[in-house]
Amino acid sequence: MRNGKKKLLSVLLAAVLAIPASVPAANAVQAAAAEKEIQILATSDLHGKFVAYDYAMNEESKSGSVAQVGTLVKQKRTDNTVLIDVGDTIESNSASLFFDEEIHPMIAAFNLLNYDVWVAGNHEFNYGIETLLKTAAKFTGAFCVEMSMIRITRQLEKRIHCLKEMV
Ligand SMILES: [Zn+2]
Repeated sequence: MRNGKKKLLSVLLAAVLAIPASVPAANAVQAAAAEKEIQILATSDLHGKFVAYDYAMNEESKSGSVAQVGTLVKQKRTDNTVLIDVGDTIESNSASLFFDEEIHPMIAAFNLLNYDVWVAGNHEFNYGIETLLKTAAKFTGAFCVEMSMIRITRQLEKRIHCLKEMV
């Protein structure tokens, strides 16, 4: 997913849970009472940017950071906000240096900002499933992994294991 752009996506969506057309009239009243508008705030590709600084380049980064996201979230959050990160959070910008810490700084920031969901991106698997699961265990929201990624990762690990046995 990292294609050089490394852009911070701050997507603001307003979703209305609609009543299905097939719901009978009596149930429609009940469903209307349950209808709720939600706001989804989402980020992706933070790539270890705790603050807006690129440690490899040793200069300020224009691609955003979780610190800046925090400012936006405080401005935009409502009682009906769902805050989601859709991955590529703990890889790049020296983020791997913090895997042995009690809690990864990016995850600490997510917890502080009350992220509801963190979905693993492809780069979350760069350091192995054990590291990912250990890091994700500290996240207080819901951690989600797209199942096909697990299958692909397991297949790759199997192949790597087979290659090691062949050598
Ligand atoms: Zn990415």
